[in-house]
Amino acid sequence: MLVKHILEEKGREVVSVSGTATLAEAARVLALRHIGAVVVHEGKDAVAGILSERDIVTAIAARSVQALADTVAAHMTRRVITCRERDSAEDIMEVMTRKRFRHVPVVEGGELVGIISIGDVVKTRIAETIKEAESLRTYLAAG
Ligand code: AMP
Repeated sequence: MLVKHILEEKGREVVSVSGTATLAEAARVLALRHIGAVVVHEGKDAVAGILSERDIVTAIAARSVQALADTVAAHMTRRVITCRERDSAEDIMEVMTRKRFRHVPVVEGGELVGIISIGDVVKTRIAETIKEAESLRTYLAAG
């Protein structure tokens, strides 16, 4: 299964916030949209960084409630690992496991075209496994 197939299934919407937004605003976006991370845009740069719920928790642990008034830019991860539509879901899962993050934006020709979460990849793998088991059962029943 390729990243492209996951996007065709889940859609290509990417929720993003400006680097000038506050952590409180970003937290509201995460809660309202039921997501764990937002892509951060700055000026013309569509993927200037990524901010996940973990970054917000880390900031609050360090600076208490005052952190909520900090900018997203101050706490986001700037070196974002991205993937392409032709990458395999297995490879992305391996990268997420090794690097210990759960979100990977999909970029094609410099354009942000989607985002894949570990939940999307696991859901796809389970669906594939069920399909394989069904095919095997049908094959054995026919034999
Ligand atoms: P997550 O597991 O996605 O909640 O993120 C854990 C940490 O990794 C946070 O500090 C994120 O900012 C960072 N992070 C999440 N996704 C990526 C990514 N694709 N590239 C680089 N860092 C990331």
